[in-house]
Amino acid sequence: MAYTYDDQNIFARILRGEIPNDTVLETEHTLAFRDIRPQAPVHVLVIPKGRYVCFDDFCLNASVDEIADFHRTAGEVCRMLDIQPGEGGAGYRTISNAGANGVQEVPHYHLHILGGRMLGRMLQRAD
Ligand code: AMP
Repeated sequence: MAYTYDDQNIFARILRGEIPNDTVLETEHTLAFRDIRPQAPVHVLVIPKGRYVCFDDFCLNASVDEIADFHRTAGEVCRMLDIQPGEGGAGYRTISNAGANGVQEVPHYHLHILGGRMLGRMLQRAD
């Protein structure tokens, strides 16, 4: 499936410098910045600079360089913010919401990195 990318989405505007962001790390292909409505003491969004709508779009259509850079940057964010799992604690969660069922708000691929507190189980049962 070919996705249609909305150039006016908020992360596209951040990448164009039209909206400020609290940058944690920037590389050739990737930007990591703090979420404006943090849901944990550490809540960083990692986004590719390319025009990808969601996780599968990025995985299927991004270049190997972009994919490698994205994941190296995400790993570096975990290291920089000292949330890597250690003996008996710490750790974090990565989440990528896609589409309606995933409740994706911003249609530019992003990885949430959440940490700094116990996050509980991954999903609450709906039934
Ligand atoms: P999602 O529901 O996975 O699409 O998440 C989008 C995330 O983007 C939410 O956690 C928002 O708080 C966050 N967000 C929206 N606008 C901004 C912004 N201008 N700067 C940083 N984070 C934002």
